[in-house]
Amino acid sequence: PEMPAAWVRSNFLDYFQEKHGHRLVPSSPVRPRGDPSLLFVNAGMNQFKPVFLGTADPRSEMASYRRVVNSQKCVRAGGKHNDLEDVGRDLYHHTFFEMLGNWSFGDYFKEEACCMAWSLLTEHYGIPADRLYVSYFGGDAAAGLPPDDETRHIWLEIGVPPGRLLAFGLKENFWEMGDSGPCGPCTEIHYDHVGGRDAASLVNADSPDVVEIWNLVFMQYNREGDQSLRLLPRSSVDTGMGLERLVSVLQGKRSNYDTDLFTPLLHAIHQVSKAGPYGGRTGAADRDNVDMAYRVVADHVRTLSVCIADGVHPGMSGAELVLRRILRRAVRFCVEVLQAPQGALASLVPTVTHILGDVYPELHRESDRITDVINENEAHFLSSLQQGSRLILRTLNRKDYKHGDFPAAVAWSLHRDLGFPLDLVDLMLEERGVQVDRPELDRLIAQNQKVKSDPQPGFQSALTLDVLSLAELQRLGVPHTDDSLKYQYRLE
Ligand code: ATP
Ligand code: MG
Ligand code: MG
Ligand code: MG
Repeated sequence: PEMPAAWVRSNFLDYFQEKHGHRLVPSSPVRPRGDPSLLFVNAGMNQFKPVFLGTADPRSEMASYRRVVNSQKCVRAGGKHNDLEDVGRDLYHHTFFEMLGNWSFGDYFKEEACCMAWSLLTEHYGIPADRLYVSYFGGDAAAGLPPDDETRHIWLEIGVPPGRLLAFGLKENFWEMGDSGPCGPCTEIHYDHVGGRDAASLVNADSPDVVEIWNLVFMQYNREGDQSLRLLPRSSVDTGMGLERLVSVLQGKRSNYDTDLFTPLLHAIHQVSKAGPYGGRTGAADRDNVDMAYRVVADHVRTLSVCIADGVHPGMSGAELVLRRILRRAVRFCVEVLQAPQGALASLVPTVTHILGDVYPELHRESDRITDVINENEAHFLSSLQQGSRLILRTLNRKDYKHGDFPAAVAWSLHRDLGFPLDLVDLMLEERGVQVDRPELDRLIAQNQKVKSDPQPGFQSALTLDVLSLAELQRLGVPHTDDSLKYQYRLE
């Protein structure tokens, strides 16, 4: 392509470093250090949290940061920012992605941040201004937060037409890192992939035609443990732009998967599978979910590689449990939809390393270990899948088996003893044309999950989709925090 991803990334860093005096800080690992409020690093700002809060050790290098630029490895598969459900279904959410960001810690504020961003996009990268929309915080009376008129004026000065300048509320334009932590009003830049029309109504509407590319957050508050907002000692700027989305814009593609960050992976998946080539279809047009499977596998193997390189292994609680589910999901799509042989998933690791290893050298260093961990976990999962299939078959062949009515106790044991997600149990039975005795299964679930007295909202529905039961965690004696359980329930 004319603008390869590597060029786009390094140009972003150069622009802020050389033109605007920012200091380049390397990506932190995706495993958060010393922050129990996070499962994974979910934004470039995470590693700078102490600088925002003014709690950085004054003798540390970090305390001297004023202007910083970076390209951060991010994972959004659990906690406040969880995109797992969208991945594969749409063309612009990933579980792992790279976030390009620039920061001001008590240095420049709104005006300079907006001007630099606009000039980078429209002049430096050459994106036509009439494809861009800008959103800003319209205030929230109930929360006592005023509209951000200052930012609105700045954009008008820059030349954004009023019809392309849109106010949104807390959900879209007040960014928060997690249930607690630094936060503030934000202004976002969106790109219209179609053009030649008024697309204002498609901004923040989950449309694949108009996609958010860059978020500029004005960090002014800290969300405290008791949910109140405390004003920070100084105002800072925190921006984040998804590299994959920017590259799709600059390469003239509608889909992140059609850029050079993904095409070598999709090609490699085609080589190891029995499916036809990737066709880029979504929704009902994607019969048999083959294209979705391509996207899921490409996405998940990137996430697995990056996480394992950073020391997060598939496991039994918190982030490791999330990674275990990601691995199992990838294996199922590989084996069942793409009909790839055992070992196919790990065979993609060199392609991931080829695409990302120059920027994140730990991928090169750890590639053997990544391969081994994926293969071991895959083998274990496939053997329990097989055991599960045999158990189902044996049950169906039992003399006392009543046609169509699968015994709940067996379904429960697939879940409890073999670690199958309950939705997988349902699916496996459906594929064999049988149904489980639902009321009895629900009773068994309830009976075994009476551990938590005050369930989170959504507790019940999430439970029926869960990979591992609480009971299983407890049986294995795995320590877990309330938070890791809460996140667990929200998954998938
Ligand atoms: P969206 O509304 O599309 O889910 P967001 O508002 O949750 O995005 P931010 O928290 O504002 O995203 O993150 C900053 C930028 O990071 C976004 O503007 C986008 O370019 C990128 N981004 C966010 N989530 C993802 C993801 N799951 N995959 C790829 N890029 C992402
Ligand atoms: Mg999001
Ligand atoms: Mg958004
Ligand atoms: Mg956003």
